[in-house]
Amino acid sequence: MGKESKSGICSICSRFRILTYEHIPPASAFNDCRVVLSTVNQYWNFGPGVGRKAPGRQLQRGFGMTTLCEACNGFTGRVYAFALAAWVKRGFELLERRNLAPTIEFSTLLYPLPLLKQILTMFLGLHGRELGGPVKSHLRNFVLNREMKYLDPTLRVWTYFVAPGPLRNTPPVISGDVFTGKFTFGSEFSFPPFGYMLTIDSVPQDNRLTEISYFSRYSYHDLKSISLRLNTLPTHTPFLGDTRSFKDMEGTSKDHMVMLDFNGSLNETTDCQKLSRQAIKPGKS
Ligand SMILES: [Zn+2]
Repeated sequence: MGKESKSGICSICSRFRILTYEHIPPASAFNDCRVVLSTVNQYWNFGPGVGRKAPGRQLQRGFGMTTLCEACNGFTGRVYAFALAAWVKRGFELLERRNLAPTIEFSTLLYPLPLLKQILTMFLGLHGRELGGPVKSHLRNFVLNREMKYLDPTLRVWTYFVAPGPLRNTPPVISGDVFTGKFTFGSEFSFPPFGYMLTIDSVPQDNRLTEISYFSRYSYHDLKSISLRLNTLPTHTPFLGDTRSFKDMEGTSKDHMVMLDFNGSLNETTDCQKLSRQAIKPGKS
């Protein structure tokens, strides 16, 4: 049950309902300790780049938003959240054991379909209202129907391990490189130990992200041993798919990068500036 509520349009079912505060990711996936909400200004001008911790508003019990109705929250929490909690626990174990290695290959038992549906639930919770048309209706059906398999092939989900740094929460945008002419339509968020990107009719510009869209081919009750090769990538800027380290940024410029919203307007930092978050450590602090 949420700790605050208001009326509004639910980000999943699009009905006008009482909305309740929920953790994103679920609290069971280690989203139960302190998170600092920093603006881009706080992170870049007062944070790690100048040798300090970024200041900002502290949320003592993890990150969350008031965007889902009680029915959607309750349903997704009951049927999908467990799969994400197990995946996150395994991810932390690997990341700590391999000491943030650039690439980690592993096999793990997981519930692929519920996990993918929980990841998409989080995308909808964060940015469902910014999605529309067939993309939104397909995602809504996919998430609200526990047994539904086969994500639309134009919608693809990618993951990676996140390096220490701010968390990313990029609303749906078109990010492109005017030199190479490559564009990505998508949304991205990170929460330790993983980052996730949802792409629409495109692929990430960085080929180090690992695709997990095929998790949608399994049935709800399938528990599978899945082998994955994930890269550990930094998320220092709020830009979609920007995986440069501080070192990579020295002497380079992303002036040729553009981000557009779905109406084609320039979208410089928009909502992401409110949501670049300082990394948290696993377990209660
Ligand atoms: Zn709803």
